[in-house]
Amino acid sequence: MDETAVTVRGVRSVGPDTVAVEFESPDGFAAEPGQFVQVFAEFEGEREGRFYTLSSPDVVDTFELTVGVDPEGTLGPWLADRQSGDEVAMTGPFGDDYYEGEDEVVVLAGGPGVGPAVAVGARALADGADVTVIYEDDRPVHEDRLAALANAGAHVVFVTDDVAGAVQSLTGRAAGVAFVYGFAEFCEAAVEALDVAGFDVDAAKVESFGPAP
Ligand SMILES: Cc1cc2nc3c(=O)[nH]c(=O)nc-3n(C[C@H](O)[C@H](O)[C@H](O)COP(=O)(O)OP(=O)(O)OC[C@H]3O[C@@H](n4cnc5c(N)ncnc54)[C@H](O)[C@@H]3O)c2cc1C
Repeated sequence: MDETAVTVRGVRSVGPDTVAVEFESPDGFAAEPGQFVQVFAEFEGEREGRFYTLSSPDVVDTFELTVGVDPEGTLGPWLADRQSGDEVAMTGPFGDDYYEGEDEVVVLAGGPGVGPAVAVGARALADGADVTVIYEDDRPVHEDRLAALANAGAHVVFVTDDVAGAVQSLTGRAAGVAFVYGFAEFCEAAVEALDVAGFDVDAAKVESFGPAP
């Protein structure tokens, strides 16, 4: 979409220093889980833009972004302060590393990468796919969504570090398409672990959020 003022439906805490912001989908908005939008706001006369990845499995009526909030940051704290009815300028969707109906998906998520992980996981499960989610963080975010995925048959692993060890412990899943979401350091470690475990890393869909704060 060209730049559009999108209405906030609600903001809720989904774990430590993390919020999920739900927006009303503008007419004609189409996006897949794993794609991202660019959000804009003005701070002391300076316009800032940041990217945020969809954390809802679809964009029917509403869509959601999951935002890790560092109090020293700019857009993160601003988004966390939004209220229902506020309008937020954004463009998108962008990105090629999204779910495209694969039968077997292995999603590796670090930190706020859990947003696209729960989105891809839920959509793929609804399509009847075999789903694995490995999520690395200090403390878990979106625990209810992860539990719902596990209850619906996904293989869900939470680790506080050592994503490589978690990937190594996967057996018989290297034929799946790997999806990797998180800050750059996490993505590098995750891709290396996938390579060691025999995944086709050239076919992996890797979306780096840039350098970690
Ligand atoms: C493709 C892509 C997808 C992304 N998807 C997501 C997503 O789904 N969810 C998500 O949470 N993020 C995502 N990001 C990251 C996001 O775009 C932002 O980089 C992130 O939210 C930080 O933005 P900010 O404006 O809050 O912080 P910034 O102002 O950019 O600051 C970054 C960090 O610098 C430090 N800092 C800044 N100002 C100060 C200060 N005055 N004093 C001390 N330290 C300071 C803080 O540690 C802060 O966290 C994505 C990025 C990319 C490239």
